[in-house]
Amino acid sequence: MNTEEIQHIRADFPILEEKIYNKDLIYFDNGATTQKPCCVVEKIENGYYHLNANIHRGVHFLSQKATEEHEAARTTVADFLGAKKREEIIFTRGTTEAINLVATSFGEVFCEKGDEIVISVMEHHSNIVPWQMLCERKGLVLRVIQMNDKGELDIQNFKTLLNPKTRIVSVTHVSNVLGTVNPVAEIIKIAHEQNIPVLVDGAQAVPHVKVNVTELDADFYVFSGHKIYGPTGIGALYGKEKWLNQMPPYQGGGEMIQTVTFEKTTYNELPFKFEAGTPDYIGSTALAEALRYVEKIGISNIAAYEHELLVYGTQRLMEIDGMRIIGTATEKSSVISFLVDEIHPYDIGILLDKLGIAVRTGHHCAQPLIDSLGIPGTVRASFAFYNTKEEIDNFVAALKRVVTMLS
Ligand code: PLP
Repeated sequence: MNTEEIQHIRADFPILEEKIYNKDLIYFDNGATTQKPCCVVEKIENGYYHLNANIHRGVHFLSQKATEEHEAARTTVADFLGAKKREEIIFTRGTTEAINLVATSFGEVFCEKGDEIVISVMEHHSNIVPWQMLCERKGLVLRVIQMNDKGELDIQNFKTLLNPKTRIVSVTHVSNVLGTVNPVAEIIKIAHEQNIPVLVDGAQAVPHVKVNVTELDADFYVFSGHKIYGPTGIGALYGKEKWLNQMPPYQGGGEMIQTVTFEKTTYNELPFKFEAGTPDYIGSTALAEALRYVEKIGISNIAAYEHELLVYGTQRLMEIDGMRIIGTATEKSSVISFLVDEIHPYDIGILLDKLGIAVRTGHHCAQPLIDSLGIPGTVRASFAFYNTKEEIDNFVAALKRVVTMLS
């Protein structure tokens, strides 16, 4: 994408014009959440102004219209992920809720004392803690795939962890700290050779990488709307019908039932069995709008442009004495985690903020990974397609000032 196209895109994101402490905002915290284009905000506004009525049960016009839009959003998500059936898409609050749903419900029927769950060393807390909780509840063992010095998963090590007791493998597609794009197709193939299902945490992948769950043959794939230019509080779980049909409901309430008596309740079919209560039908339609927006630009165009930003940003940062980039995988998305000498990442983040630059510092909700690297945390700059090389230049200039001040 050329400069003119990027300027055109930036005009869709009014927040990028904000001044922070009288400085131009440079928003490099896209790994935490992305900004929203006007079309997404307008979809939410329009939903509440013109389309608001509780869905699925109403006979009146507004309820039916809102139901149609919500169900059309499910189809949009299914198409976006390359799912075969729209019923295999469950709306959730996001990645975290989707993983909790699988850990609880899959764990309930498929795991017994002594069984094993495999995750990796680079998981976000939301792909560690739900499995740990399951392990505590049921007496299971958590196994962890290790990585090499570049921050790439050790596939040989992964193979040694699989055995007849392994019930599920749950790995991130893209690391939110290292930017590593994991070979999930290979991981799934290896696990499937032993009939072990795989959940892929796609929170950091879907905004940057073309995903097709059918080609990947993923058993579960999860993501959050807010990390792909959609609203907060909505995300999705893709699950193969064969698993979802065997799993019990995650929560009980309205919508997920077929009949209720005080003696017995029968459950609704997919996907409703897993969607207890009033869903975020405004959020789902706004998420669908965000996915259409991303597809209009084209994931391959986005990936190519963000790769340019990654290469340029890495080169420019390496000009700084004492710069240490954490995560140098060959396959990497547009995330740069770094440390400079012994300066604490928090101090760098605080001073960059005063210059209008939003980066994230700390353990990035991946404390075991940070501990395994023996570092206090990192400064993380994560780029989106609305960022520019000029912003990177200003960021590097600001960082040089900050480092001089703190050295
Ligand atoms: N997984 C990864 C790799 C993430 O980066 C994040 C958020 O940063 C999550 C899961 C959790 O996402 P959410 O908080 O939207 O549920």
